[in-house]
Amino acid sequence: MKRPAVDIATCTLCMGCVAVCPEVFSLNDAGYIGVADLEVYPAACVNEAIKYCPVDVIVWEDE
Ligand code: SF4
Repeated sequence: MKRPAVDIATCTLCMGCVAVCPEVFSLNDAGYIGVADLEVYPAACVNEAIKYCPVDVIVWEDE
């Protein structure tokens, strides 16, 4: 199964992914973008966030 991952070291916290795909991406308590634990990820919305991310740090990873 694939799940989205964020390179938090490079993420600028622009919050774009949260705006585009809030069911997957959110700001966690540590102040970084977190990825929700879902059985199935909404591909269209994640792909939209990947396209949106200004520093290209969202990727699909194989679990
Ligand atoms: S869109 Fe990219 S840079 Fe912006 S908060 Fe999300 S992961 Fe970080």
